[in-house]
Amino acid sequence: MGSREVSNQDWQGKYVTVAGLGVSGIPAAKVLRGLGAVVTVVNDGDDERSRTQAAELEAQGITVRLGDGATLPESTELIVTTPGWKPDKPLFTAAAEAGVPVWGDVELAWRLRGPGAAPWLAVTGTNGKTTTVRMLASVLEAAGLRTAAVGNIGVSLLDAVLGDEEYDVLAVELSSYQLHWAPSLRAHSAAVLNLAPDHLDWHGSMAAYVADKGRIYEGNRVACVYNAADPVTEDLVREADVEEGCRAIGFTLNTPGPSQLGVVDGILVDRAFVANRQKQAQELAEVKDIDPPAPHNIANALAAAALARAFGVEPAAVRDGLRAFRPDPHRIEHIADVAQVAYVDDSKATNTHAAEASLAAYDPIVWIAGGLAKGATFDELVTGAAGRLRGVVLIGRDRELIREALTRHAPEVPVVDLGRTDTGAMSEAVREAARLARPGDTVLMAPACASMDMFVNYNKRGEAFADAVRALAAESA
Ligand code: ADP
Repeated sequence: MGSREVSNQDWQGKYVTVAGLGVSGIPAAKVLRGLGAVVTVVNDGDDERSRTQAAELEAQGITVRLGDGATLPESTELIVTTPGWKPDKPLFTAAAEAGVPVWGDVELAWRLRGPGAAPWLAVTGTNGKTTTVRMLASVLEAAGLRTAAVGNIGVSLLDAVLGDEEYDVLAVELSSYQLHWAPSLRAHSAAVLNLAPDHLDWHGSMAAYVADKGRIYEGNRVACVYNAADPVTEDLVREADVEEGCRAIGFTLNTPGPSQLGVVDGILVDRAFVANRQKQAQELAEVKDIDPPAPHNIANALAAAALARAFGVEPAAVRDGLRAFRPDPHRIEHIADVAQVAYVDDSKATNTHAAEASLAAYDPIVWIAGGLAKGATFDELVTGAAGRLRGVVLIGRDRELIREALTRHAPEVPVVDLGRTDTGAMSEAVREAARLARPGDTVLMAPACASMDMFVNYNKRGEAFADAVRALAAESA
């Protein structure tokens, strides 16, 4: 942190630069202005939308500089950045040279929370964050606690810490970007669910990505929850600087050892938060209580349970909360059966690690894949799934990368390569998939890529898939 760090108490007259208009930048600018700071928003783009947003902010006394997100405004004492902005941007180089600290939206929320504020139970990982945080909130609610799932879902972090609603505890989802820009965050307890290469174009390397994820454990008070099947997560716990007495708690799909949660004969059990962990195991819930009971989702449930137990939640509330939980759309969502073929929307599989989880859950599969690869390679994914693929339909900008992996590792699998990236391509993809499928197969849209080359976001991609499936069903009815 630079020498001109802004004191938490005194925002009056501070020169704060907000980097990026958008979902986190606009509320941050308004909040800071409300606290009396002198706020300038800088933004790379200068389009119609940003001009409208700028006009609204300027009416509140905020300066907005469009079309130049690179130059550090004079007198800047602090930058509050949109988490997505890459650390190698010239703005941040200039800030480092000038000794100006950079905070992300999470750091800002953390610093602005009031005295006696609700502790945070934090979750990160390459995949499963949203699901786990929502499971956790469901369990905390079942325990009668005032809570919310915050982060990329539901309530925003700033609203949660500054709003009128009072909370006992928050279930917080944190991305690697947010963690990168949140140096002073200290959670009550935190979990890293899994680590697989993702966003490497942003972080620069796997090591940098892992290090940013590992920040979630810094200063934990009660428990650092790791995935026993993913040794890198355990290494991060070992390296973390935590409060005296904070425990390392593992979760596993196998029989748990002492200080772990795991599964025995279809039952989720706790051997961590019990009086005698050498001899005792506490039953929490049944695998069939979890929707869907796929292995990766049971892992999410165990992580959520571990955080809840670290916060003192009783076993019965863990069971009730997990039973009450229902998954969000576009996460292995069964859309319809048409001509005895199941159509499943896993649009949220925006990287290979997520796609691997859903590809492992079906057989045989007609796989719809492709989009923005974000620097990923597909050899491992294709090798693992090759034996279960009936056929593949490729869409999106980086589909060639998947095609090459298929040629290398599954040359016998028929591939339809749709050479178009307009949003209408999805309905053609579904038709092609239907042609390849035989009764009993699953058409799985788990693209292993981001969606923004063709769609606004993964929600829209999932909706396009579901619309196309419904159209197909209507035709064949
Ligand atoms: P995130 O918030 O981390 O993106 P989600 O809960 O929204 O995670 O799930 C994202 C995708 O990852 C979905 O496609 C889902 O099927 C898959 N997924 C969920 N949990 C896991 C897990 N523990 N391991 C691997 N894949 C997972």
